[in-house]
Amino acid sequence: MAATLLDGKALAKKIQAELAEQVAVFTEQTQKVPTLATVLVGEDPASQVYIRNKIRSCERVGMESRHIPLPADVSQEALMEEVQQLNRDDTVHGILVQLPLPDGLDAQPILDAILPAKDVDAFHPENVGLLSQGRPRYLPCTPHGVIQLLHRAGIETAGKHCVIVGRSDIVGKPLGLMLVQRQSGCGPTAANATVTICHSRTQNLRDITKQADVLIAAIGQAEFITADMVKPGSVVVDVGINRGENGLVGDVAFEEVSEVAAAITPVPGGVGPLTVTMLLENTLRAAQHQAATQTESA
Ligand code: NDP
Repeated sequence: MAATLLDGKALAKKIQAELAEQVAVFTEQTQKVPTLATVLVGEDPASQVYIRNKIRSCERVGMESRHIPLPADVSQEALMEEVQQLNRDDTVHGILVQLPLPDGLDAQPILDAILPAKDVDAFHPENVGLLSQGRPRYLPCTPHGVIQLLHRAGIETAGKHCVIVGRSDIVGKPLGLMLVQRQSGCGPTAANATVTICHSRTQNLRDITKQADVLIAAIGQAEFITADMVKPGSVVVDVGINRGENGLVGDVAFEEVSEVAAAITPVPGGVGPLTVTMLLENTLRAAQHQAATQTESA
């Protein structure tokens, strides 16, 4: 393997240690513990793993979590009422509704109902709007994780051609928005990219991906990006998580692309651990913001 491995697991541990210190200071100053509420509807095994992971991560950095499991046949109204109760609860700083919701439930009105100040996933239209204007309240977790991974490995995006394959509202689109801004939370070198976003209707995909200095795959198809789609010496970030017979694989054919790229993220152990870490960071920011607002209005 020629490529340098971008180790998301190790970086997540480091950032979580930094967050733990910040949480301790916040708690000492305010006598409050940043608290994340997680809502899980139904018993989807992958969602259960994600939620368990988020709860454990909260504990690791000294935050609290409040888990609300609901049956798969919960009504839209009852789910909405849970969200409204969490909105009203001053001891809850961040709210996360685990997606996807079971068939029959409409996720959009539920996500829209979360108070923007508690929207630690940064999915609310107000938060998306602020992000698109370059003045984010919270940074969306997976895109922020990708940017942290690049930045802390010393990989600059400024002036580079970043090609993102995938245009979802969770990964591709917000990541494109962040990379194209003049500034990022990690400074201007971790922004200012020339961004191309590709999707299933993109023609001549390989011609475009081969131009990428930084290629980011967020497709949801196992080993879709092959070595012949990658520019030699480029950086490849694999957001994909696909469950197959041999466990988890990404959207990138890791072995062969490693021979071409200069740096690459593994799956698992790449972007995934950073997604959770950025959720913790947003929960701390939410708690800080809400504490400051309460002090002002007292
Ligand atoms: P979506 O299914 O919402 O989006 C997939 C995107 O890939 C779509 O824009 C789709 O295009 C595009 N696409 C699909 N097939 C092709 C193709 N043949 N050629 C080009 N583009 C294609 O997925 P998500 O963005 O939610 O997730 C993507 C992957 O990332 C998944 O594997 C998911 O599990 C993983 N993920 C990982 C996270 C992490 O923390 N590591 C967090 C979130 C997601 P179109 O819009 O035209 O359909």
